[in-house]
Amino acid sequence: MTELPTYELYAIKYAHHDRRAPENFIGGDPHETGPMPLDYFVWAIVGKDRVFVLDTGFDADAGKKRGRQHIRDPRDGLNAIGIDPLAVEDVVISHMHYDHIGNHEPFPKARYHLQDSEMAYATGRHMLHDALRHSYEEADVLQMVRRLYAKRLVFHNGMDSLAPGIELHHIGGHTMGLQCVRVWTRKGWMVLAADAAHLYANIERALPFPVVYNIADMLAGHQTLLRLADGDISRVIPGHDPVVMERFPAARVGLDGIVVRLD
Ligand SMILES: [Zn+2]
Repeated sequence: MTELPTYELYAIKYAHHDRRAPENFIGGDPHETGPMPLDYFVWAIVGKDRVFVLDTGFDADAGKKRGRQHIRDPRDGLNAIGIDPLAVEDVVISHMHYDHIGNHEPFPKARYHLQDSEMAYATGRHMLHDALRHSYEEADVLQMVRRLYAKRLVFHNGMDSLAPGIELHHIGGHTMGLQCVRVWTRKGWMVLAADAAHLYANIERALPFPVVYNIADMLAGHQTLLRLADGDISRVIPGHDPVVMERFPAARVGLDGIVVRLD
C-alpha cells in the first residue's frame, strides 16, 4: 500500500449559544436541566500543497436573527493560521443548515463539495414542513443554487475520496444529505463529524440531537463515526462541542479560544 500524505487539522470557533441540556437530547435525563452551551466552528484541513475548508459558518446578521452570539468572521480565524480565504480552492459543505453555509462568497475561487441528497433535501418537498426547514435559510440555499448554475458545485453520492487521505462519508440522520470528512493525520484517521454528532455526549449517551431528519440514521451515524476513527472517540471531532476548545491546544501562541490544532 502506498503511504498516504498526512494533513494538519484545525477547528476555528466563530460563535456560541448558551442553552440548557434538554435542548441537546431526545430522551435525556429529565432531571438534567443545567447549562449545556454549543460552540460553532469551521474547520481547516491543511496538506503540503492543498487546503480544504469544511463549512463556512454564518455572519453577524444571521447570528442576531437566530439569537446566537457571533464572535468573529471565520475568515479571521483562517487568516490567523496562514490560510488566505481568497486562495482556497476546495470547500466541503457538511450540510446546508444556516450555521454551515452562511457568509456568502467568502471563498471566491472555491468549488463546493456536497452530497446529492443534501441539495435534493434542501430544495425538495421536505422543506414544506416548518419543522424540517427551520435550520435552513432561503438566501443560503439560493446562493448554493447560484453556484450550481455557475458550475462551482461538485456532487458526491455516498462515500467518495477528495484526495489521498481525505474521504467524504454520507451519514444522513441530522439532515438527509449530511456528510462527515475522514482525514489521515499524524494521529491516524480522524473524523470531522460536523453535525453527525453535535456533542461528545450525543455519542457517549447514544442520544439523538433534537434537530433530526431520521433518528435511526443519526444513531447509526454515531457508530459510523467511531468506526471511521478506528474506535477512538478522541479522534472524532463533534460539530458543536465547547469541549473541543479545552481538549486541544491553541494552534499558535495567542489563539487560545480561537483556533485549536486537532491532530
Ligand atoms: Zn450545526
